[in-house]
Amino acid sequence: MKIAIIGGGLAGLTAAAYLSENRELEGTVFERSPQLGGRAFTYQKSGFTLNYGAHAVYGIDRHTLHHMEEDLGLVFESKQVDKRKVVYAKNDHLTPAPLDFVNIMKTDVLTAMEKVRFVAEIAAIVGNVHHLKNYPTLGDYLDKSNAAEDVKELWQHLVCSNFFITPGDARKVSGEVIAEYYHNLFLSSKPVNYILGSWATITDQLQDKINRNGNWNIALKEPVESITQEGGQFILKTKAQEAAVFDKVIIATPVQQAVKLLENSEWAQYLEPYQNNTSTEVMVYDLGFKEIVARPFHYISDMTNKMFISDVSATDHTVVPPGGQLLQGIAYLNDDFKDEDERKVYLEKKTAGMESLFDKYYPGWREAVEVKRVSKKAMVSSVKNISTNRLLPNHLPNVPFYFCGDGCEGKGELAERAFSSGRKVALKLLNQLIKPERVTG
Ligand SMILES: Cc1cc2nc3c(=O)[nH]c(=O)nc-3n(C[C@H](O)[C@H](O)[C@H](O)COP(=O)(O)OP(=O)(O)OC[C@H]3O[C@@H](n4cnc5c(N)ncnc54)[C@H](O)[C@@H]3O)c2cc1C
Repeated sequence: MKIAIIGGGLAGLTAAAYLSENRELEGTVFERSPQLGGRAFTYQKSGFTLNYGAHAVYGIDRHTLHHMEEDLGLVFESKQVDKRKVVYAKNDHLTPAPLDFVNIMKTDVLTAMEKVRFVAEIAAIVGNVHHLKNYPTLGDYLDKSNAAEDVKELWQHLVCSNFFITPGDARKVSGEVIAEYYHNLFLSSKPVNYILGSWATITDQLQDKINRNGNWNIALKEPVESITQEGGQFILKTKAQEAAVFDKVIIATPVQQAVKLLENSEWAQYLEPYQNNTSTEVMVYDLGFKEIVARPFHYISDMTNKMFISDVSATDHTVVPPGGQLLQGIAYLNDDFKDEDERKVYLEKKTAGMESLFDKYYPGWREAVEVKRVSKKAMVSSVKNISTNRLLPNHLPNVPFYFCGDGCEGKGELAERAFSSGRKVALKLLNQLIKPERVTG
């Protein structure tokens, strides 16, 4: 059986690595860029290791990567962000972020009574009895809750940080999604870890695995332009091939690109409900310094200005040359602008806001810059997981393809949803191979 995987990001590589374990299958990963990794692409610049998307892993002991370690024999190390060096800034006042019990006791974002309330809420989430799961959105729950304003603000802020969205959007996330997400994360003893060496540590091993199976190949700079069906098989038109024939197709691209790929096909109508989904976008400001400019904390989340700075190199020393420092600033972005000019002014304001945050905590940073990368519009998640959007199912009735990626149904958020959905579709296909069943379409 011949399988085509369209997209060589985390999701496509994960699916291909699982499928390449089976000797009866052969396949091709089509990637339109000159390199693999997609939004998790890692590159070197002046001795610094930079990612397009950061490599923080939330709740690594309960993460899909943990299954992949066991299933595929991946070998990687990770290091936990020092919880005592994670701070929140509220109206210029710094206080420990309530990441665990010790920090909750120390933090000033809650009063003593509010701490009792918040700990009770955590216990209810962990015990799976929190009422939040029954509310359509976090906003609906908060409107009905009798908790103090600080506790409500903290809920919104937690969702902002983990989902990379604004407080307004945090209120639109479904209660069920939040309850499930934090049930998993609050049970973890490792809330935030970095994969040492960046995402390349994972993607290189997935790529090696695929390449070790001679029946698989990876086609770079090879965008798939269209798919048609003929007699139970699928014909892919790519940049270099008029007609490449496959038995199964996995589409592992952002949902917007999957919709575009199928827009003139017989399946376009089934993708319609997903074409107006909005994505999660942020502003990213990466800075590599030749020496450590300052290290007041390892992560600061500015609750007032809705932005955060991670001192990535404080946890992952492998991403900098000896003595260097790598900071990543991220600003959550609104997406409701009346026109392009308004959007431009807003982004300029955000950039200036980020620079003044660096000025405040890393004085003199401008003179030490060795590497700088600013992206005013980086797509973190192809589908923002709010109640007005719909994640794309891994399989749609009447469409004979499988879908995976961070805009598809899967476990967790961000990269975890890419990994988990890639794993899910591969296991489904492998299972079908053992117990053949008719796929509708
Ligand atoms: C600034 C930023 C910070 C982030 N921080 C974190 C973090 O700390 N932790 C975390 O877990 N996640 C983080 N993420 C999210 C994470 O990077 C993404 O969720 C993940 O990389 C998505 O992987 P994917 O495989 O679903 O999609 P992609 O990476 O988008 O992969 C899809 C691939 O398909 C290819 N493609 C598209 N169309 C075609 C076609 N027609 N033919 C062939 N190829 C095609 C694309 O070129 C691409 O390589 C961050 C993202 C950003 C941008």
